[in-house]
Order: sequence, then structure tokens, then C-alpha cells
Amino acid sequence: MELAKRIFRGEMDGPQLLITGAVHGDEFEPIAAIRRLIDRFESDKELETTLRGSVTFVPVVNEAAFLRGHRCADDGLDLARVCPGRADGSITERTARALSDLIESADYYIDLHTGGTEFAVLPLAGYSMHSDAKVLEAQRRMAKAFNLPTVWGTAGNLDGRSLSVARDANVPAIYTEYLGSASCCEEGVVAYVDGCLNVMAELKMLDREPTADRVETIVEDPRPNSGHMQVCNPSPITGYFEPAVSLGDEIKVGDPLGTVFDTVGSDRRTIASTQSGIVLVLRTFPRVHEGESVGVILEMQA
Ligand SMILES: [Zn+2]
Repeated sequence: MELAKRIFRGEMDGPQLLITGAVHGDEFEPIAAIRRLIDRFESDKELETTLRGSVTFVPVVNEAAFLRGHRCADDGLDLARVCPGRADGSITERTARALSDLIESADYYIDLHTGGTEFAVLPLAGYSMHSDAKVLEAQRRMAKAFNLPTVWGTAGNLDGRSLSVARDANVPAIYTEYLGSASCCEEGVVAYVDGCLNVMAELKMLDREPTADRVETIVEDPRPNSGHMQVCNPSPITGYFEPAVSLGDEIKVGDPLGTVFDTVGSDRRTIASTQSGIVLVLRTFPRVHEGESVGVILEMQA
């Protein structure tokens, strides 16, 4: 399988940067931002010729999921759990293999995400706490340069991700999040376009005036499984979730995140936060299944 992509190559030597969107099919700011970046390189030939190195844009990695309007394709597998995939596997496994080939041949990697249909996420740039000091330092520089308000380093032990393929290949990589809730906000698209160009400037691939520093919070949390958002604050029942907090709120252990109701409201369970910190991720799609997350708290002192 080959992923639909555009490559722009400058006349001078430099690194090979890979930028991907829609690893999950219901995340739209990344698709719009990468298309705008392609348009910018198309319409400004000088931008391409003066580029040091090359940039590969893949606006939609998971086309089968995108066409369904879902996080996953119809084999039900999460592309960000089955990497590096298999060339002879199901549609998601084949897509994972094709993506992994691109990551393994890159020098640097940016993977753009959002909270998708069911969640909203505070804008952040994240990376794994890589065991190689040089890779980790490059990831820190890329995440800060991307210039979103939160920078989050988490445990490097999670497998199956695009970022774990990069980790195993020693390719410095970051991922980003920007809201979600099945919509596409203009400020997110603009922030993603700027962020990618900022990282290219940080990697000396192009010259660009530094933009005002928007980074407010830097947290590194090396505890195992930190950064695994889907396991935090699970719902005890299947039902309708009504949040008691907003994205970005400060919350303490025991404070209610919200309540899950059965359809007639006779069974209602309030979900108390198990952590203190900032509401980093919040379920915005009310239907929740038992065991699914309703939100993630960013602990400020990890
Ligand atoms: Zn995603």
C-alpha cells in the first residue's frame, strides 16, 4: 500500500522531515493545515528551492477511517495501536505498515492529531521521554518550537503508536493535539500551519522570523503509561455523560468530572477525579461506554 503524499525537495542538503495528519479518520485540523502547507509550497516556488532538505506531507494517513467519518476503519483497529503493522494484514494493519515505512526513512517526524469526534484536547505538543539523550533533546526543541501552550513529555513505554515506531528507529518525533469535538476550528488550522513552519525553522530547513512564544506549561512525566489518554477516569456504566468541568479548569482529587446517567436517569454515577491538575482532555460526545475515558487530568508536578 502507498499513502497519498506530496514531497517538496530543496536545492540544498538538509534533513528529511515527515508531517502526517488523520492517523485517526475524524481529526480535521491536521488535514486542513497540511493541505494549506502544500498550497504554500505550490504557490511559492522560492520556498521549495531555498528549502534545506525535504518535507513529505501526508494529509490523510488513515483514508479508510476518514471516508467512514470515524476514528478507525471498518476492521475496528486503532491505527495508533497496531504500528508497525503488517503488509499482509487488514486495512488498518497495512496502513500502519505504510506509515511505519515513511517514519523509518525520515530524519524528523511531526504527527498532527485532535480529540476527534468524542473528545476535546487542550492544544499541546507531546513527545516520549526517549532513552537516547540526543533524540530526547531534539524532541524537546521541536515541541517547544511548535509553540502551542502546553508541552508534555510522557513515558516512552507505550507501543503500537506512530511515535513508538519513531522511537525504535531513533527518529526525533513529536505529536500535537488541538481541540476536536468533530469540528475544525480556524485558529487550530493556523496554529498547526505556523507550528510546522516553526519546527522547520528550528531544524534550519528554512528561514523564518521567530513568532511570539506561546508556551505556558512544560510538564515531563516519565511514569509508566503516562500519556495513555484512553485509560484515565473510566465511566463505570454505559450511558449519557454530562461534564461538570470545562477544558483547562483546575481540579483536585475527588472533585466531580461529571455524571453518567442511564437513559431514564434512574442510575446516575458521578465520576470523581483521581488526580489533581488541569483538565487536559474532556469527553464532548455524550454517549459513553462502560470503561471508556471521560477525561484526562494533566498533573502539573509529575
Ligand atoms: Zn488521534
